[in-house]
Amino acid sequence: MAIILKSRALANEMIALRSLKSRMTLLQHDNKRYMNMEKGLEGELRFDQLTEGMKNDVYLINDLCLEFNHSVFQIDALLISEKKILIFEIKNYEGDYVLDKETFRILPSKQEILNPLHQLNRSVTLLRSLLNKFNTQLSVEGYLTFVNPQFTLYQAEVNAPIIFPSQLNRFLEKIDQIPSTLNKQHRQIAEYLLEKHLPNSPYARMPSYQFQHLQKGVLCSLCYSFMVKKARKVFCEKCGFDESLESSIMRSAKELTLLFPDQKITTSIIHQWCGIIDSHKAIRRVLLHNFKPVSGKKQRHYIINP
Ligand SMILES: [Zn+2]
Repeated sequence: MAIILKSRALANEMIALRSLKSRMTLLQHDNKRYMNMEKGLEGELRFDQLTEGMKNDVYLINDLCLEFNHSVFQIDALLISEKKILIFEIKNYEGDYVLDKETFRILPSKQEILNPLHQLNRSVTLLRSLLNKFNTQLSVEGYLTFVNPQFTLYQAEVNAPIIFPSQLNRFLEKIDQIPSTLNKQHRQIAEYLLEKHLPNSPYARMPSYQFQHLQKGVLCSLCYSFMVKKARKVFCEKCGFDESLESSIMRSAKELTLLFPDQKITTSIIHQWCGIIDSHKAIRRVLLHNFKPVSGKKQRHYIINP
């Protein structure tokens, strides 16, 4: 059975951007980057659904950020089987593209984009170097993996390490059929990679924002619309999601801490941040009950791990 050693965690950057998108108007390039991240994540989750169903003994490690010799590289998905380590660069591209010799272009505009095969080759080389110390017989192979059925790439070479949407199921089924037994070394390699993982991607670039300029309120955890308060609950009029007051206050406090790590969390700041919860008393009770209180000179504040 596939053993998932690391599932795909939502990057803090993504969580923060989802929140900011509802609370302010993002600049065009921030919005574009956010939309690309959402699209990329959707593709990665589509891929995960397939690998998680594998019956063979393999290790799955999703979303690794590693470093070798001061070169940082990211791996969308890594699979360790008995004989091979496979890494997948997952792309959720849609539409027509052409691989013009070494150049990737979007059609029909012919606009050039970074060649993901170069990115993949770099990751394969760096990963091999990182694993050198294990003296392992395991080969490392990389595949550029397209998951969107609406994607076409013209002029790709037959032997290019590319998996197209129409091949993805068959590719994984094939791996699933090669007998695989994992031993101590496989485990050691997997643990080494997990240990080397850099949890915060150095690529994170956030738009600038300030507390007073953000729209206050409680955001729905499913669709990120602002929720309304109804009796002892909060309710999303857009998607129908409802939630207890307590859970919505906790979520909002965590969200605030993620966006403003230096902000002291007090009852009054959460009151402002949530907007729709009138009772200071209710907020104080929830904070006291769920987070560690610290007594300050003027006001008590709470330690929150987002
Ligand atoms: Zn909603």
